[in-house]
Amino acid sequence: MRLLLIEDDRALVLQLKPELERSGFAVDVSHNGVEGEYLGNEDIYDLAILDLGLPERSGIDVLKNWRQANNRLPVIVLTARDAWHERVQGFQAGADDYLGKPFHSEELIARIQALLHRVHQHPAGQLKADGLVLDEQTQSVMLDDGIQYTLTNTEFRLLRYFLLHLDKVLSKSELSEHVYEQDADKDSNVIEVYVRRLREKLGKGRIETRRGQGYVFHGKPT
Ligand code: CA
Repeated sequence: MRLLLIEDDRALVLQLKPELERSGFAVDVSHNGVEGEYLGNEDIYDLAILDLGLPERSGIDVLKNWRQANNRLPVIVLTARDAWHERVQGFQAGADDYLGKPFHSEELIARIQALLHRVHQHPAGQLKADGLVLDEQTQSVMLDDGIQYTLTNTEFRLLRYFLLHLDKVLSKSELSEHVYEQDADKDSNVIEVYVRRLREKLGKGRIETRRGQGYVFHGKPT
């Protein structure tokens, strides 16, 4: 999943970005409201983390503009601690969740995961399909027969995207857009390599190749 982090506190960004990446998220950063709003209208992000106190345009205005343009990007706003009025404003402007500063990155990551599950209708706190469960904390997958595989970070990113989009045709370019960040070398052939590795672990009947279209991850193996 690819996140847009709009935050002008560069020290916070430096600390947060690698932690989010370790948790399997591709992260693009913007340090001001105008650019952040523009990026958030690109159809490539799965979720935005939006600071409210931003140069050039406030986070509240960014959020209002997105919602007015019918942009439904899931948004977690970062508010000043104890500023209840900011939380109210955030929700009124269309935020899905909030977190008061300072916060522990573990809490932000848990909120991101919970919001993504909600948006994609996986409410159980776990990502699963018939016969497998993905553990987002350990980045490992457990199969029905009790076999557990630890995944590499890219395998994990790819499998999570598949599980949040079961039974849908996903093109290679969509997959690479949501697995890698802005300046990454997005060679979509690399996706083929990782699909092959996931097939080796999960079995061949799980990921179907649709020639010229992409892949379908089946909720039930065929
Ligand atoms: Ca700020």
